[in-house]
Amino acid sequence: MKYLRYGPPGAEKPGMLDAGGALRDLSGVIDDVAGPALARLGGHDPEALPRVEGTPRIGPCVGRVGKFIGIGLNYFDHAAEIGAKAPAEPIVFLKATSSIAGPNDPIPVPRGSEKTDWEVELGVVIGRTAKYVAEPAALDHVAGYCVVNDVSERALQIERGGQWTKGKSCDGFGPVGPWLVTPDEAGDPQALRLTLSVNGDPRQDGTTATMIFSVAHVIAYLSQLMTLHPGDIIATGTPPGVGMGMKPPQFLRAGDVVELSVEGLGTQRQEVVAG
Ligand code: ZN
Repeated sequence: MKYLRYGPPGAEKPGMLDAGGALRDLSGVIDDVAGPALARLGGHDPEALPRVEGTPRIGPCVGRVGKFIGIGLNYFDHAAEIGAKAPAEPIVFLKATSSIAGPNDPIPVPRGSEKTDWEVELGVVIGRTAKYVAEPAALDHVAGYCVVNDVSERALQIERGGQWTKGKSCDGFGPVGPWLVTPDEAGDPQALRLTLSVNGDPRQDGTTATMIFSVAHVIAYLSQLMTLHPGDIIATGTPPGVGMGMKPPQFLRAGDVVELSVEGLGTQRQEVVAG
């Protein structure tokens, strides 16, 4: 099933898509697609819910996010394109939760930035508390999957004395959604195609099959380091085709349009604007 949140920023309401793709209002059933409700997704009948009129803004598909965790260099073919060795253990960084945005909200280029880059990723939303979880049980803790654009400012990330968080956390750098798709519908998380284009030109085209560390491995690994709570988001890394890896490198400018999809999880579309 496909859950989402709609309405103005900060005042989103919970919703679902029905079988025909129409938006239904879930606010009479749960307060938000967030917190404890994430452990109970999948048990709602969208056909029994009121239809939502019009075409409201779609917000990030999960609310009250406690942690927004990124995994770096998690695709063999992406590590190769930027000349990096495959890491021996997952590279973990945090994106500020204030970077979270709706899937079609504009991406502001930070002041002075010349190296704002794109990264289509499979997003994992935690539904049940995970602490010291073993890999075979890891996926039992997933509420659903979504598209994430792990927007990254490469100068801040790489040229400013360390800590990727600097280049990953700017406002609008974390579009999440449009939908939170339950695991039964999303299927095998290691068999999903990911694509991204800029101004209609294909840039990224990969598959989660080339991840170095699987979704289950990443959840188990992180759960040894910190408790994962319902609503935490993990951006699991990006396949090849980022601007930094192009020859010559290419980055986003105001007016550019980025479109990205993960198979079965929907499409995001962002216009790049001056920040
Ligand atoms: Zn990333």
